[in-house]
Amino acid sequence: MFPRRSKSKLITTLTKKLLSRLRLWAVTVRDSFVVLLPLTFLGVAATLLGNVPFPAMQRLMVQFLGIGWQEGTQNVVNATYGVFGLALAVVLSIRLARRLPVIEGSELPQAWVGLAALVNFMLCLTFRGTPTMAALGHDSMLLGIIIGLATPELLRPLIAMRRVTPNYESDPTFYYAIRMTLPLVIASSIVMLAAKVVMGLPPLSMYWLATLPTVINPWIDADWLLSSMAVLINQALWFVGIHGNKVWDLLQAQTLFGAAGAAYDPARAWRPLIDTFVLLGGSGATFGLVISLFIVVREGPFRRLAWMSLLPSFFNINELLIFGVPVALNQTFLLPFFLAPLVLTLLALVAVHTNLVPLLNLVVPWSTPPLLSGYLLTGSWRGAVLQAFGLLVSTLIYLPFVRRAEVARLRSQTEIFDAAISAIASQSQRHLRSEQLGEEVSLVARGLLVALRHDIGSSALSLAFQPKHDRRGAAVGVEALLRWQHSSHGLIRADVAVRLAEEGGLIRRLGAWVLEEACACKARWNTLGLSHITMAINVSPLQLDDPQLPALLSRCLDRYHLSASEIELEITESQAIPLLEVVDRNLEKIVAMGVSLAMDDFGMGYSSLLHMRRFYIRTIKIDGSLIRDVLTNPTSRDIIHTIAALGHTRQLEVVAEFVETVEQRDALAALGCEIFQGYLYSPPLPDEACVEYLLTNGTQVDDKVALATASVFS
Ligand code: C2E
Ligand code: CA
Ligand code: CA
Repeated sequence: MFPRRSKSKLITTLTKKLLSRLRLWAVTVRDSFVVLLPLTFLGVAATLLGNVPFPAMQRLMVQFLGIGWQEGTQNVVNATYGVFGLALAVVLSIRLARRLPVIEGSELPQAWVGLAALVNFMLCLTFRGTPTMAALGHDSMLLGIIIGLATPELLRPLIAMRRVTPNYESDPTFYYAIRMTLPLVIASSIVMLAAKVVMGLPPLSMYWLATLPTVINPWIDADWLLSSMAVLINQALWFVGIHGNKVWDLLQAQTLFGAAGAAYDPARAWRPLIDTFVLLGGSGATFGLVISLFIVVREGPFRRLAWMSLLPSFFNINELLIFGVPVALNQTFLLPFFLAPLVLTLLALVAVHTNLVPLLNLVVPWSTPPLLSGYLLTGSWRGAVLQAFGLLVSTLIYLPFVRRAEVARLRSQTEIFDAAISAIASQSQRHLRSEQLGEEVSLVARGLLVALRHDIGSSALSLAFQPKHDRRGAAVGVEALLRWQHSSHGLIRADVAVRLAEEGGLIRRLGAWVLEEACACKARWNTLGLSHITMAINVSPLQLDDPQLPALLSRCLDRYHLSASEIELEITESQAIPLLEVVDRNLEKIVAMGVSLAMDDFGMGYSSLLHMRRFYIRTIKIDGSLIRDVLTNPTSRDIIHTIAALGHTRQLEVVAEFVETVEQRDALAALGCEIFQGYLYSPPLPDEACVEYLLTNGTQVDDKVALATASVFS
């Protein structure tokens, strides 16, 4: 037996686990509705077309498309809405399989999870006899959700249990197909058993509802209660993604509602009243939601959705909103989704009971636009005014919730963006496209890549220049650093831009632009008396195997009348330099031209020392992370000292970057560094500011440092 303390702890952990799993389910269901948006969209369009409420337009359609034209739209409805339940089961199971924590490395192969969901869904349906077309669609939405959630949950432990050593000679698809068969059979058997048990339960009876009017009527007109109940039940069904109207039709025909076309009866709920004055824009009075979206959201997906659902909303079709925002299963919209129609129901009943609006005994098609339908049902402008007032009320109810949803969306968008930026910066180049990165991150990466491709050569890209100083404090050179101003995200980190370019096959174009731009700047600076300042340009290892690189460089030198000694190329160590002959030949040619090479981030790369042997390096830039703790970490100090000594013996220039304080600089000088770069002197500066810096304080010599740090190696 557990001691009391650990028992309660166990319960808390279990509750937490359960809650987080429920949350995962809810998020995945919502997300699956979004995946199915194209289906919804097609369905909405076909429904809209098939239900034009204006007889003149109907006649026009017959004229153009022939008598049976509605058959065509009905086919589209069948192929979209008509398979919605099944599609939901499959999509949901795949989405959940991706998100469930993996047990002991046994990942769920998505194709087979989807397949299992398909089988399970059909198994459950066939329990009710041969499935009809309608059974695959909205009628089975709930079944779709249950199967979509249950299938991966069942398969997960089954797959983990049956570990099979893969035979690497066999085709991986074949391997999975064989491996998944038994778990699939077991999962389906469990589902079949559960379906059998559920079918054995007594059917849910709503007939007790029918007795309500007789109980209530002596006290108060029953329509107050029955109409409100009908509306709330409808909302509840829609909220969990079930086509409320259909279920409503099944349940309420005999219970809540009077016969179709019957006159208004205060002892019953009256459907025309609800259709016309409550379901403005569809269930949930969502026309108010559309208006709120237009008021609150200026741009982004909610704005686009508002535009897309505007026309359907006029005809009271709102699946796009319910599954697109989404409203279904979204706790943010739970309250207004129930409250708005409830308030409108009570408003309509007040108007009817006080004889403010007359009611005609006729059927107005449910797809008739608001204002018009109100006028038709009452034969009076008052009906239209009541609807207009209803629209105002529902808009006001939705407004604060839309605001909250938009704020949350923006926040999560920023979070995703930041996460994507750090993922891009930290991933090694080959992984950017991989699935591990997560969909959101790779979507951000792809979006940025498209923007970068577009921005190369435009004013969105620029260079900043960071001065380098010698021991005496005189500025001797600058390093050109890329700056990218994204149109909506602002400044993007240079290393992220470079990594994206490397991954997206843009690095040669970007590198060529940097080279050209830096040389153009340097030429301008020379006319201002800054020809003694060298220009260091960063080059990605992935540019080095470009056979055109030496020619490109020499063309730049010629065009801007620069001497090769004014330019230095910094090759970073953060990525492997390809072991290709063309790389060695390129660098030989470049060195032969007189352009010097610097090894950037020296000390932290794959094979810093090997590169010293492979290329004619003239400068070593010690990695910033070593410099950062030079004052606090004796090991870093020793490494710096060793690198400096090595550089000295090989007659290389040793540069320390990331120098932020005088103490750091003095320590680095004492360890043998000769050139310093960092915030102590200046951050990277835009072109003109850097020129001004170099002309005014860049050349002043700090004698104290020069004396105090006379070379330790001489
Ligand atoms: P890097 O070549 O090591 O450049 C030095 C980075 O350190 C720059 O970041 C610079 O702004 C920053 N920095 C300068 N002084 C200090 C300091 O005192 N403290 C600290 N903490 N940081 C300092 P930036 O501009 O964000 O560039 C990041 C990296 O992106 C560069 O690292 C370089 O690898 C790459 N990069 C930038 N421009 C280019 C380019 O034109 N081509 C290529 N291939 N890579 C580039
Ligand atoms: Ca650099
Ligand atoms: Ca560096």
